[in-house]
Amino acid sequence: MEWVSIQEASHRLNVSQDVIRRYARDGRLNAKKQPKETGGTSWVVELPDGPWEDDFKENVHGIAQKLTPWWWSTADKEGVVHYVDGLGIEEIEALFMCGLMTDNIYSAVGHNPSERCPECVDEVIKQGLPMETRE
Ligand SMILES: [Zn+2]
Repeated sequence: MEWVSIQEASHRLNVSQDVIRRYARDGRLNAKKQPKETGGTSWVVELPDGPWEDDFKENVHGIAQKLTPWWWSTADKEGVVHYVDGLGIEEIEALFMCGLMTDNIYSAVGHNPSERCPECVDEVIKQGLPMETRE
């Protein structure tokens, strides 16, 4: 197994860095922080082994098509879905557009638009962001 930067993984697997980050955040790809030569830390991900790579690519593209900026703040999917502002792994603790902070988020793929947080919707419109998809 080989650990590479998100940039390198993006290049090797031919998908965007956002997809790599999302994949890592969802736990489908092993990821860890590693000290940089220049100081600080950066994220690295574990590349899948050779023959598996094509499956992995298809998988990643499948996930990418289902990407939604809308996420639940609770595992039991109660209340409203919120808009996630940004895809960095580092931002996992708190990143809803309306300012809500949570420890974890749960993909709201397939949710009903009526379930959306009104404050998030307002912000998305105000900032001119894509309402339905990241891609
Ligand atoms: Zn919200």
